[in-house]
Amino acid sequence: MRSPEPGFDWVVLGAGTAIPHSERSPSGHLLRARHGPVLVDMGPGTLWRLAAQGVALRDLEGIVLTHRHLDHFLDLPALLFASRIPGHGRTRPLPIHVGPGMLEHIGRFAEALGHWFEPKGFDVLWTEHAPGEGAVAVEVGGTEVELRAVEHDATSIALRVSLPGGTVAYSGDSDDCSGLRALCDGADVAVLECSSAADAKLPGHLTPREVADIARGARVGRVVLVHMYPQLDGVDLQAEVARFGYDGPVVVATDGFGIRL
Ligand SMILES: [Zn+2]
Repeated sequence: MRSPEPGFDWVVLGAGTAIPHSERSPSGHLLRARHGPVLVDMGPGTLWRLAAQGVALRDLEGIVLTHRHLDHFLDLPALLFASRIPGHGRTRPLPIHVGPGMLEHIGRFAEALGHWFEPKGFDVLWTEHAPGEGAVAVEVGGTEVELRAVEHDATSIALRVSLPGGTVAYSGDSDDCSGLRALCDGADVAVLECSSAADAKLPGHLTPREVADIARGARVGRVVLVHMYPQLDGVDLQAEVARFGYDGPVVVATDGFGIRL
């Protein structure tokens, strides 16, 4: 995995999906918030790619999980299990923000895994958000984060962060919907999932046509594409998004891609 230059605001730790891929791991992102690093999603392997960026468990200021699908959240049990092993050095609480119904889902993991799912040495501060039709503003790591419900899974939220250099919107997994469009409105960077080709639309996900339409409509400064299924390997997604009418810069991310505002 490439290490971005210093000074990045957001690092794509995992640019892929649940399907194993040599350049794209399951979803995970590192936000450099005002007070320190924040994880946004943590699919399998995210913690190891986080370590490659020099960020340890004790350094995290918080976590935001966009939904319950395993390619976005399975390293949570891994993190809690790792905390059972002495030496991680964390004592302060770890805030974790989730969408509607996630606590019930996570409770089932806790029931199944018992004490291996209990953090040791620190407390987890859970907050479940239910934005409904509106927006929820929350501070994570000293940075303002706006959360909105999006169309994908009942637990799904997406977000927009306001950093000193500008704003980043992140779709998580989402179909084209009003919540996602509101988060992207005027964003300097939109990190958007792009799961399939325009002629092979997967419900609950975006195609290059929808990415272009959202980015153009929201006057997004630039687009970073993530969550491409392997059937898009070999497709020129930059050209596709341009063909469907977005004329700003587009990057097709691989693991380790860093964004500087
Ligand atoms: Zn999903």
